[in-house]
Amino acid sequence: MIKRFSRLIVCTMVACSLLLAGGTLQSAEAAPKYSWKLAMTWPTNFPIFGDAVKNMAAMVKEMSGGEMEIRIDSKNKHKAPFGVLDMVKAGQYEMGHSASYYWKGKDINTLFFTTMPFGMIAPEQYAWFYYGGGMELMKKVYDRHGVNSYPGGNTGNQMGGWFQKEIKGLDDLKGLKMRIPGFAGEVLSKLGVVVTNIPAGELYTALDRGTIDALEWVGPSLDLNMGFHKIAPFYYTGWHEPATELQFLVNQKKFNALPKHLQAIIETAMKYAAYDMYARSYHDSAVNWEKISKEYPNIKIRTFPKEVIAAMKKENKKLLIEKSAKDATFKEIYEAQKTYLKKVRKWTEISDYAYLKDNID
Ligand code: CA
Repeated sequence: MIKRFSRLIVCTMVACSLLLAGGTLQSAEAAPKYSWKLAMTWPTNFPIFGDAVKNMAAMVKEMSGGEMEIRIDSKNKHKAPFGVLDMVKAGQYEMGHSASYYWKGKDINTLFFTTMPFGMIAPEQYAWFYYGGGMELMKKVYDRHGVNSYPGGNTGNQMGGWFQKEIKGLDDLKGLKMRIPGFAGEVLSKLGVVVTNIPAGELYTALDRGTIDALEWVGPSLDLNMGFHKIAPFYYTGWHEPATELQFLVNQKKFNALPKHLQAIIETAMKYAAYDMYARSYHDSAVNWEKISKEYPNIKIRTFPKEVIAAMKKENKKLLIEKSAKDATFKEIYEAQKTYLKKVRKWTEISDYAYLKDNID
């Protein structure tokens, strides 16, 4: 009561001074005690990914009763889409939103916390993060950078990509020019694919003009707006990103300096926004796929032939073992994910998989 009363007096005093200075009552009430900045990898108004960040920031403001506010800077503002980890590390931004596998060039062990080719699907991976030791391993990796890392929203299983020509066997991969980033790109280059990474804004033209023969992006949730279905007839099912989890980053010093209740609010808001993005991605993919398949009925869904999948699996495993021999933490996380996947997949097999394989009409 006394607290509320004194707050009222303070507010009234602030309001009066602002009114005298030509301000308004509204701006006095909105003044937060903690004002943070977040840098995201995505452009302004980027759907789904950007919305997860907006949701998180809105929840923090609401749950803290306006005590804390987070300003979001898109890549258009900070101009460093792949510099988010460095900027949060340096304290230039208190928070970031990106994807852990973008930092593999700086720290190879960050690779594991987005998704891995032939790895876990989203429910399995969430189980691993929150109950199977994943958060602890992620903490071990990110503590070295003075940064806290949290799941930041899942795209669900990504599609294998848009192809101009059908892939009937391993020979069709030789010399194929494809945009596919990350670890999956390394796997495909072992099979003769010429792997390139092209900025999002130039992808459509590159595929249309034949600069590349194929590309992967996300799935119908985000592919629809890119328009690839208008120029490529084959849409392959996924293998390379079965559960792409984005990432919230928080500077550790700044986080530790916050009062406990605001730490709890931020962590709750991030977790809620992340899971909400998974539901949203699933929904948007369903709606957008219906749209694409109705408007472009000639699009053919394909799965890579067995010999191609087997070769990808073999190269993937070889690369993981090679990298494990060079880095003890890499080996530890690789083994941990492998062991967990084996266990959790047995359950998936007799639950979701058993249900789906006999119930899709
Ligand atoms: Ca992708």
